[in-house]
Amino acid sequence: MPWQSPISPGISWYEANVPERPDYPPLSGSVQTDVAIVGGGFTGLQAAYNLARNGVRVVLIDTCRFGDGASGRNGGQLGTGQRWWPEEFEATLGYERSKALFDMAENAKQHLLDFADAHALDIEYVRGHMSVSHKSGMEKDYQANAEIAATRYNYPHLSFMDGKETAKRIGSSFYKYGVRDNGTGHIQPMKLLVGLARQAALAGASLHEQTKALKVENASGNVIVHTDKGTITAERALIACNGHIGNLEPITARHVMPIRSFIGASRILSDHPDVLPSGESVADSRFVVRYFRKSKDGRLLFGGREAYTADNPNDISNHIRRQITEIYPHLADIEMTHSWGGSVGITMPRQPFVREVMPRVTSIGGYSGHGVMLSNYCGKLYADMVLGKATELELFRDLQIPGFPGGMRFRPVLLFLALSWYALRDKF
Ligand SMILES: Cc1cc2nc3c(=O)[nH]c(=O)nc-3n(C[C@H](O)[C@H](O)[C@H](O)COP(=O)(O)OP(=O)(O)OC[C@H]3O[C@@H](n4cnc5c(N)ncnc54)[C@H](O)[C@@H]3O)c2cc1C
Repeated sequence: MPWQSPISPGISWYEANVPERPDYPPLSGSVQTDVAIVGGGFTGLQAAYNLARNGVRVVLIDTCRFGDGASGRNGGQLGTGQRWWPEEFEATLGYERSKALFDMAENAKQHLLDFADAHALDIEYVRGHMSVSHKSGMEKDYQANAEIAATRYNYPHLSFMDGKETAKRIGSSFYKYGVRDNGTGHIQPMKLLVGLARQAALAGASLHEQTKALKVENASGNVIVHTDKGTITAERALIACNGHIGNLEPITARHVMPIRSFIGASRILSDHPDVLPSGESVADSRFVVRYFRKSKDGRLLFGGREAYTADNPNDISNHIRRQITEIYPHLADIEMTHSWGGSVGITMPRQPFVREVMPRVTSIGGYSGHGVMLSNYCGKLYADMVLGKATELELFRDLQIPGFPGGMRFRPVLLFLALSWYALRDKF
């Protein structure tokens, strides 16, 4: 029987299709270590793996099972660059910093693919991605985006697609035009997650599921992580809780907010070869992005981000099917075999949050829907920082990330209102 995450609704198709998912025991009693890590998603596990293989003692805990947060349940799209187009970054940060952030994301992409290769992980990587516009009037921006990537960012893999090519590659005339990216692709994230946890354990990290951090504090020159199963005393700690931070640490909670995103998997579409015939993943231009792709076995995995009234998987399937039908009317009655949701950790400017939130305690998260490759890389960069190496993590530390307005009580309400406004704007 596939496992049902206690923090996210529905059983994901990834969970149902991962050959094995080993359990890791809860923490037992009080322990002493070099680095304590809270959160067993990509960020925490990559940090644990890279520290342990360099001889650093690590204890990592997760309140659920590894991958129950965003890392095991996402759209699997790697993307290219940061969340914003480089020319948008350039307008506020200047060319040098924008280029450094773009190059860092390329390093992140390579790091993920190299990691999978080095450990012979079958992460079901499929090459190709398309960014498409649901509105007219931005054709020149899309053309410029491909040109700028090639000429200013040394990235020759983008090509502009007119309406005809877009329709052919999507299998629908719903989108107006777009950009195709042949230098990236999509993966089965749970397979990466399970393989990463195994490698971290083999490297010597002490990994514990079903162990909740209740408080992180500095005391007597150490960092103490109080959990529901015992206490971890460490020289330093990494908080890698992303959108699941809750009340654990107030600075992170003020800067990283969860928004719900939902995905549905259809039955295998062998009778619809017109749908995404070349296998690229797709992300559209809505503020509340719709993202979809075909799995390696030919299902449509379709994600949208809306505030549904219920978390019942049947409701999720119906909502997702309605969104699919707007693009593919002939799939109006398509059977959905799995549907699930997760929490995307977002920040106000949609850029990652990296900060020392108390002495020797770093918090990293809030990749804002662009974290599959960045979270893996930031975990590794955190390890580099602990090991005293120069690291690109500084690029994120230097970003100005304002907190969300409102106190703990009003922040979710304000966020809901803002997202509803943007969802409405997407419609008209
Ligand atoms: C539905 C969905 C679709 C997405 N699609 C994409 C995509 O296509 N491309 C992309 O790049 N990004 C996507 N993302 C975002 C991406 O998945 C995340 O950015 C990335 O996985 C973040 O990894 P993480 O390790 O930082 O956080 P998470 O994977 O969220 O891990 C945080 C962990 O912390 C644990 N935790 C929290 N509090 C405590 C505590 N008190 N004690 C112990 N443990 C605790 C949680 O249980 C959780 O396992 C998507 C996210 C979602 C939810």
